[in-house]
Amino acid sequence: MTRAFRKTSSPKKEQQLTCRKCRKKSDFADEYCSNCGKELPDWENRRTILNLRVAQNSIAFIAGIFFLSFIWAFLFEKASLLILAENLVVGLIMTVLFFYSKKFPRPAVFTATGLFVGLLVLSAILNPETIFQGIILKLAGIVISLNAIRSVFG
Ligand SMILES: [Zn+2]
Repeated sequence: MTRAFRKTSSPKKEQQLTCRKCRKKSDFADEYCSNCGKELPDWENRRTILNLRVAQNSIAFIAGIFFLSFIWAFLFEKASLLILAENLVVGLIMTVLFFYSKKFPRPAVFTATGLFVGLLVLSAILNPETIFQGIILKLAGIVISLNAIRSVFG
């Protein structure tokens, strides 16, 4: 153990790293791949990897909210074509941002959060009676986006 481990900022042990050479999963605390022996990323890079995962999961969650809303509106509400299209299109944009975030996490998280919050505000202004529809999902989406912003900009 020649490396200086900063205990306070060490990521959780149950999270796993994928070896870049053989793709096998290793324990987060390992220094070398247990399969091929290749050196695993250092702690600074591991934190970046973790933050990236948080960001990607958040965008996937928000995409999920819009796809769920689309399915819900389609099956259980007599939603207009416009509302259906809006949820579907935003869900697809979020899916694109999810893949984009692998290379460019900051602009992806920024765009996803901006779009999500912007649409919430817009719908609250245009249809104030719908503010409390799916409020738990909306709040969860806000908390998760803020967490994503903190993890890639913090
Ligand atoms: Zn390996």
